[in-house]
Amino acid sequence: MTLSSRRRLELRVRDRHRERFWTEYDRESYTCPSCGYEARGVDGEFHVHHIDGDWLNGHPLNLIGLCARCHKRVHGIVAREAALQEWKARVEDLGKESKPYTGVISTATGWSA
Ligand SMILES: [Zn+2]
Ligand SMILES: [Zn+2]
Repeated sequence: MTLSSRRRLELRVRDRHRERFWTEYDRESYTCPSCGYEARGVDGEFHVHHIDGDWLNGHPLNLIGLCARCHKRVHGIVAREAALQEWKARVEDLGKESKPYTGVISTATGWSA
């Protein structure tokens, strides 16, 4: 399996942000800020999420630890919102002038455990 260099960079950057986050917070006593779930040091139970969706932004205020379930939910909502907005724009465009839609609907959620 080969990874593109961009994907490799992304994984490296994400690793670095994860490490940075867990130097600021205590994994042993961390509580999911979204649902209050406490994993008590269980490795991999918390995902470090980029709040603005940009994995290159490793600013401490852009990083948040979420339990696996909340992390999934956040990305599900974001992806649905984006798809909905695109769909709306598309329908409005079609209403104005009957041109075929040529845009690309993005289905990428851009996250990985
Ligand atoms: Zn949670
Ligand atoms: Zn995330």
